[in-house]
Amino acid sequence: MYQSQFQGKMFIFTAPSGAGKTTIVKHLLSKYDFLGFSVSATTRDKRDHETDGKDYYFLTVEEFKAKITNGEFIEWEEVYHDQYYGTLKSEVERIWSLQKHLVFDIDVRGAKNIKQLYSNTCMSVFVRPPSVNTLIERLINRNTETPESLQKRIYKVKREMSYENSFDIVLVNDLLDISFKEAEHIIETFIFGLTVI
Ligand code: 5GP
Repeated sequence: MYQSQFQGKMFIFTAPSGAGKTTIVKHLLSKYDFLGFSVSATTRDKRDHETDGKDYYFLTVEEFKAKITNGEFIEWEEVYHDQYYGTLKSEVERIWSLQKHLVFDIDVRGAKNIKQLYSNTCMSVFVRPPSVNTLIERLINRNTETPESLQKRIYKVKREMSYENSFDIVLVNDLLDISFKEAEHIIETFIFGLTVI
């Protein structure tokens, strides 16, 4: 396990692709200064609206594999064929050096691994769409995928849904405003021990 002087709390938001977890994570980051986003490394192509170093560290497959060999990751997964995603140790250190609590937006397998490593300081949240069909619709409407990558993502959805019971909390993302409030409640309760209604 990776250690640092300031060990803040960790919040993992995980979900099948398209369940809305990134929207929830962005809301929390804009609301709470004391949260820091764990910028993952990935080998997938950068999307137009994304910034290197802010949304992801975009690496080539060779660069990514070199970091695996050097033991630079806390966890990594080949989420899609030849598309690697991983959490760098240096990223956890960066956020904790800012005295902030960490927020992860990662896939279900990576989420399970981090939860196992940091069980007591870590709150894992599975964001579930109201139904699989809703999720597929959202994925299509998001318009970020090629027909081929869309197929890959839809194929994964059902398998990822089966992870629902592996995490501390299930947040059903139906109405966004309500999901935001529930997510805020999770953060505040875990950090301050407060019950906010
Ligand atoms: P996207 O390509 O849509 O940004 O992300 C695809 C999937 O990879 C999402 O479920 C996202 O949460 C996940 N992901 C992003 N960063 C990481 C990471 O560092 N590790 C793991 N295991 N999954 C990640």
